[in-house]
Amino acid sequence: MTSRPSDKPGTSRPHISASAREMERRERLRTMRILIVHHDLKQLAHILLLLEQQGFSNLVLASRHEEALQYVHPASGAEAGAFDAILLDAALPDNDSYRTCRELRRRAGAVVPVIMLGGDDTRAIEQQCYEAGATDIWPVMDKGPGLAHCLTLTLLLKLERDLCKQRDQQLKHERTERKAVEARLQYLVAHDELTGLYNRRRLEQMLELALINAQHNQRASALLYLDMDQFRLVNDVAGHTAGDRLLVEVTQILRRHIKPTDILARIGADEFLLLVEGLNTEQALEQAEALRHAVDGFMFETSVKTYHVSLSIGIALIEPHETITVDEALARADQACYVAKTLGRNRIHFFSRDDSVMHLLQSDAYWAPKIRHALAHDMLCLVFQPVISANDGVVRHYEALVRLVGDDGELITPNFFIPVAERTGLIHEIDLWVVKHAIHMLASLAVHQSDLVININLSTQVLQHAALLPLVRDTLQATGVEARRITFEITETAAIASLTQTRKMIDQLRALGCCFALDDFGAGFNSYNYLKHFPVDYLKIDGTFITNLISDPVDQALVRSMIAIAHTLGKKTVAEFVENAETLALLKDYRIDYAQGYHLGRPERHLLQ
Ligand code: C2E
Ligand code: MG
Ligand code: MG
Repeated sequence: MTSRPSDKPGTSRPHISASAREMERRERLRTMRILIVHHDLKQLAHILLLLEQQGFSNLVLASRHEEALQYVHPASGAEAGAFDAILLDAALPDNDSYRTCRELRRRAGAVVPVIMLGGDDTRAIEQQCYEAGATDIWPVMDKGPGLAHCLTLTLLLKLERDLCKQRDQQLKHERTERKAVEARLQYLVAHDELTGLYNRRRLEQMLELALINAQHNQRASALLYLDMDQFRLVNDVAGHTAGDRLLVEVTQILRRHIKPTDILARIGADEFLLLVEGLNTEQALEQAEALRHAVDGFMFETSVKTYHVSLSIGIALIEPHETITVDEALARADQACYVAKTLGRNRIHFFSRDDSVMHLLQSDAYWAPKIRHALAHDMLCLVFQPVISANDGVVRHYEALVRLVGDDGELITPNFFIPVAERTGLIHEIDLWVVKHAIHMLASLAVHQSDLVININLSTQVLQHAALLPLVRDTLQATGVEARRITFEITETAAIASLTQTRKMIDQLRALGCCFALDDFGAGFNSYNYLKHFPVDYLKIDGTFITNLISDPVDQALVRSMIAIAHTLGKKTVAEFVENAETLALLKDYRIDYAQGYHLGRPERHLLQ
């Protein structure tokens, strides 16, 4: 029959409220789609006219069972085009009303009101109507506004319900989206972005569990430290993109040779850790050999060259009879890997306490000739770590940190050789080398960096060495670098060890215009007393107070008091080991002056531009 979805301007409409929302609701009401089923065409025309006069414009008419059903498709449900209400004649011929009602209810779904338009005695048919799925029964209302009024109320209710449902769905959608964002954040907290492997943080958590498991459940595990042998070469020669691709490809190989339950993490540029629970010595060796062998057969191709890649692997067993910490377990695997590397790479080494090779590598006999060789052949180099001003985030200082260049160009950190250099009297030579090269580096900077200050670490020995003062003076003079651009860092221990002599040297260097910082402050002596007379410009609060600052109230109290006292004494404060944004924010609250740490920049060969 007729479908009349069109608007009819000029017809009288339900009262339109002044507020825009109310107007919108009325407008929506007017266009809601209503199916009217009546066997009596005269009655049908009458109802149509009544409703149109009241502003309803989207009316669909039917006079028989089949006709009504053809408008209501089972799939339409709440989709566009579905009906918002159905008015159904309770006296369709052949007693069809209940059948039609049941079918319409089934097809239209539970949310669409189906209203029976009853005869004079609606009570008699009430029960059958409701059983057939009708929402309500209205007696025939030939007084038009009555029908329109009831219909308006019914539709308003439906509209409210629809809106609620919409809001529910929106909430559900938002909840799902929030869950997805949270899942992504959780993923990022525990994973390395480049390779998708776990990160150090996650590995450390799992390692902690493995250590507990070893203690309480007598379950051994193996921790494998894997270091790629040619990564630095690929990265330097073929570029960072090739380096990244290499890491991803090696990750894929490693993944093929581990179980899904094993924990594989990337913890440094080319360093991976694998934690496997339930392994004994032989099984750990087998696992390591499988990985070493798999990567050894891999040729990495770049547009310029093909590289043969290999792994050095160190293994530390976590055994039930031993109590060790996460840091100790990591250090053992790291040391074993270092031995594997030093013994010629592409090999596996087990950690053991009485490992003679390891002891040799930690010994003066091993390192002293290497240091001498490095000094004689310029095999030292400097890396620079930014120190930022806490209030504006600008890098004003860089700390120069020395590295020993190994046989294959790898950079060896000072922990390995500085203690030996101190014991064997070679440290002052290293320091003099650093002073000279750091000043030359300053001289080579572009004009826009001519205000940068370089921080140079000095040992106790060099502060007592006659060559230091003339070297600083002459190098400054020869290069034209201003003395104020040098800050020397000395440790508390160094400062106190030989106060008079050290003091004299400090005074002379200060007279040239250089500044001083007290490094690792708080780590050694806990007396602030000597600070009053000690001529330093900066206090560098030791990193051990900063690493757990967020969670440790004792560290918080100590750091606050160190900053307050330093400020009272007119000295600037620097925090080392700032490893995340939360720590930086807290330090800013405490009015720290400078911050340094991996969160702000790692030590690099070149300064930021
Ligand atoms: P330092 O002077 O306290 O230098 C800071 C050390 O902490 C550096 O290690 C640096 O890489 C590391 N570091 C920086 N930010 C973070 C961080 O956020 N987290 C962690 N965990 N570590 C961070 P590096 O370069 O291994 O130097 C170790 C120490 O060796 C230095 O400690 C300094 O005492 C000594 N050293 C370095 N270069 C020289 C030098 O030229 N002469 C002398 N005498 N000593 C040096
Ligand atoms: Mg330092
Ligand atoms: Mg320090």
